[in-house]
Amino acid sequence: MAAAVETETHEVIIIGAGVCGIYMLHRMLDMGVDATVLEAGDGLGGTWYWNRYPGARFDSESYSYGYSFDAEILEEWNWSEHFAGQPETLSYLNFVADKLGVRPHMQFGCRVKSCAFADDTNSWLVTLEDGRRLSCTYLLTAIGMLSAATPPRIEGVDTFAGQAFHTYYWPQEPVDFSGKRVAVIGTGATGVQVIGEIADKVGSLTVYQRRPNWCAPLHNRPITEAEMADIKARYDDIFEQCSRTPGAFLHGPDRRSFDEVPEAERLAFWEELYASPGFGVWLGNFRDVLVEQEPNQEYSAFIADKIRERVHDPEVAEKLIPKDHGFGSRRVPMETNYYEAYNRDNVELVDVNDTPIERITPRGIQTSDQERAFDVIIYATGFDAITGAFDRIDFTGVDGLKLADKWHNGPVTYLGVQVAGFPNMLTLAGPQGASVSSNFPPCIEFAVDWAADLIGHLRQRGVQRIEADASAEARWSEEIKAGYEGSLLATAKSWFTGYNSNVDGHDKMRYLMYLRGAPKYRERLNGVAENGYEGFVLD
Ligand code: NAP
Repeated sequence: MAAAVETETHEVIIIGAGVCGIYMLHRMLDMGVDATVLEAGDGLGGTWYWNRYPGARFDSESYSYGYSFDAEILEEWNWSEHFAGQPETLSYLNFVADKLGVRPHMQFGCRVKSCAFADDTNSWLVTLEDGRRLSCTYLLTAIGMLSAATPPRIEGVDTFAGQAFHTYYWPQEPVDFSGKRVAVIGTGATGVQVIGEIADKVGSLTVYQRRPNWCAPLHNRPITEAEMADIKARYDDIFEQCSRTPGAFLHGPDRRSFDEVPEAERLAFWEELYASPGFGVWLGNFRDVLVEQEPNQEYSAFIADKIRERVHDPEVAEKLIPKDHGFGSRRVPMETNYYEAYNRDNVELVDVNDTPIERITPRGIQTSDQERAFDVIIYATGFDAITGAFDRIDFTGVDGLKLADKWHNGPVTYLGVQVAGFPNMLTLAGPQGASVSSNFPPCIEFAVDWAADLIGHLRQRGVQRIEADASAEARWSEEIKAGYEGSLLATAKSWFTGYNSNVDGHDKMRYLMYLRGAPKYRERLNGVAENGYEGFVLD
């Protein structure tokens, strides 16, 4: 007879030890809640634990990406660059976790297989891949918005004899590129960082591009000691500034509209944006550039000329200029030496629209015209964004309802924090919240605080069960959809709008994000709390 499996019990289980999970665990422990984190990796850090590919770094200013809640952490941590690289960010998150003393409450190497709600006990049963079982009253998902990597669906992927990696699953030990023939498939924010970083370190680099993106210079540079002291003195202002912008970045729209500024002044402003660090080039523009067609076309033409200036071969430059979407309607990859890479003799651009990839072979990549041999293939092919991490866990709610079935045609939530039919589960960093459409840490700090207050409220009142009301959920879905109206973001196919050619069924628009801006989102959630958590049924 098989031995009975012991079930470990906690009041709260948090899945994931990334930026969200670390802070949620801290809040829970601080409130005296018995909580544990289950993390699939062998270390904490989430995105910054896994994405070790060369060139991985922040696109938001380091000091706007850190947590804001703890004065000592702000005082003690020094950022070395305005846009820190992945190793530094991972060190930062480890520093924070140790400073807060949360690490002993994290369990690593725990991949969650299924979570099932027990109606009779109002609790969740969590089963890990290795068969271990845990139960809890509240299940909090902090499983990441870009944590379900999607390798390309190309015939022969498993047959390649050289080294091949998806960027997300980059090996822990450094990869030696010297003299190697390297291929990169994918030119999103990840591919663009990799290409700029390795072009001068490889023997040869071949980039397989399907759709180009509008990329813009990051202008990263080191932070001096004096600058860091100044940043520390200004932290209150920095976070205040982030709290006012729609994306919770340091950069928010210029109040002026495109039309009201004379052409010469407008061009001078755009030159300034292009020359300044970070997302200003995308988010700091005239307020109508990401909304109206004409200003967007003008700005896109300005950026296209920048690409033509930087890429010497006019044919290559034209291939790198997007023709199917305007600037900023997909995530703008921030780059360092990206366009210059294509001026190097060892770098070749293959447009797979001209010569489609037919298969991966043991030697390399076969396109319709030729087979190229490689030592390393890098798949920078993105993620099953926002809902993918949920789909990879078998969530079962009330009456056997499967989350994957409920979300088959796209996610539905209430406030981006709960799903009707899944009581006592909070979908932190999940679909239809603002964290997934904004600078993640400031937004998730708010969402975590809100969720922690909710749990405090439930505990204080002895509430055993909380569930989103189906009609409140339906209204939220309408509000989410309305947020897409009038946004150019909704016009382009990308992970923002739910598309992924490497996932079945993700060939149509899905409403994944709250697009009315972080300030409005905070206002909505605070209003719900002030009104006694309206839209939830508390039992
Ligand atoms: P992505 O933006 O989805 O890009 C995936 C790329 O792979 C696209 O160029 C896509 O082409 C291509 N691709 C996919 N399947 C393909 C196939 N079968 N054949 C040829 N090409 C294929 O993914 P990502 O670059 O990993 O970026 C995802 C998000 O992660 C970013 O938007 C960003 O939010 C985040 N990120 C952040 C940072 C940062 O903050 N510093 C850095 C990197 C990434 P199509 O465009 O034609 O689909």
